[in-house]
Amino acid sequence: MSEASVRNLPAVHTLPARPELAEALARRGRAAVLRAVREVVEAARRDILSGRATAIDAGSLARRAAALLDGERPSLRRVLNASGVLLHTGLGRAPLAEEALAAVVEAARGYCNLEFELDGGTRGRRSSGVSALVARLTGAEAAAVVNNNAGATVLALRALAGGREVVVSRGQLVEIGGSFRLPEILEVSGARLREVGTTNKTRIADYERAIGPETGALLRVHPSNYRIVGFTAEASLEELCGLGRARGLWVIDDIGSGSLGAGLPPGVAGEPSARAGIAAGADVVLFSGDKLLGGPQCGLIAGSRRALGLIESDPLMRALRVDKMTLAALEATLRLALDADLAAARIPLWSFLSVPLARLRERAERLAAGLRDVGLCADRIDAEAYLGGGSVPVEPIATAAARVRPPFPGCGDSEADWAQRLRLGDPPVVPRVQGGAVLFDLRAIDERDDRELLDAIQRSIRATTDCCSDRGDAVW
Ligand SMILES: *Cc1c(COP(=O)(O)O)cnc(C)c1O
Repeated sequence: MSEASVRNLPAVHTLPARPELAEALARRGRAAVLRAVREVVEAARRDILSGRATAIDAGSLARRAAALLDGERPSLRRVLNASGVLLHTGLGRAPLAEEALAAVVEAARGYCNLEFELDGGTRGRRSSGVSALVARLTGAEAAAVVNNNAGATVLALRALAGGREVVVSRGQLVEIGGSFRLPEILEVSGARLREVGTTNKTRIADYERAIGPETGALLRVHPSNYRIVGFTAEASLEELCGLGRARGLWVIDDIGSGSLGAGLPPGVAGEPSARAGIAAGADVVLFSGDKLLGGPQCGLIAGSRRALGLIESDPLMRALRVDKMTLAALEATLRLALDADLAAARIPLWSFLSVPLARLRERAERLAAGLRDVGLCADRIDAEAYLGGGSVPVEPIATAAARVRPPFPGCGDSEADWAQRLRLGDPPVVPRVQGGAVLFDLRAIDERDDRELLDAIQRSIRATTDCCSDRGDAVW
């Protein structure tokens, strides 16, 4: 009986033409599809011979091969970010500039002088080129790079104030991004938290009173993802630096999102900048590489030579150091940032911020028209985008979006269902669901990807119609 079944297996070469494999064939090519088909037919043959029940019709086998190919997609995939959140932590924060990508490829493809002095043929310092650039851009004497800003904070606290007290305002004991909780970061660093003031008001006198023989540093943390409004008071960084100097204490300024200086990047107002922190006299300023700088994930530490000397000789530095690809991407990004106009054109985050609203409106109108063409109830609206990524949460950025209102084809009125289908497409599209509508915000979409975005949305509708038409609730 199993003999007969094996003989009834479809021939491998007939399967790639099946409709179940059409999409895989277009995406992966004939060789990959043939390999998958061979694999499932072979598995079916083994099942039959060992007496296990298995479906052997061509349709089932083709579906199994398609599922196999589907499961081979890389888990980390490119996503079209139509959410309007520019530094979406879930979507990898800042996209990199072409120059940064090229530098990564160059550094990673072969060997490079990562820790090697080409001049003398001796061991060199890993981040010397980048440090010089950070120092130049921020006005600091020295700089170091670590894995991220959380790492930079732990390292700076440990190296400068390990085993001692660090004075922080109660209004700045923040949690950022779900896992960066300042009291816990302090604990990990081995420094002791000394809270002063209240949630809404902390004055320089509060810091002054808290200083004692155990005090090692004064820490300012930028609240990043919330604002305290109403009756508030905060000691200025200048006041903190004055106090630190007078009492011989380190002043650490965790600015987080990390604008480099005024107008860098363009259109971002009210953020503390690294340059301002150094100018005010902070011993070290800490910020992320993949927030406003628009570079790779890393943490930058800019500051005095004396502070950086202690930080770089801490054993934890070795555990937090960045690899050659990060350094290459960071150096290329910093080089672009030396020229604000060039940076606005080349660093994706900076250019997203620079696109005029009028241009976004035109593009949103075109997208909405393309969606109306396939029967959707779409129009163009003005909306608000956000930087996100734990930075400038309350400052909306003017943007334009294509809005689609229900009914959503094939899925009734559920915007959540349609948003899920969009996320599961290829490429995945992440829209914004708002007020019962689905919005495609163009602030974080490269104009060159507009066509691909339209195609992906259109495909998601066809797929939806197919899947739901069996249930008889297709809307068009
Ligand atoms: C974002 C942020 C951090 C954490 O930075 P990562 O690079 O995400 O580790 C720390 N402090 C502040 C003030 C931040 O805004």
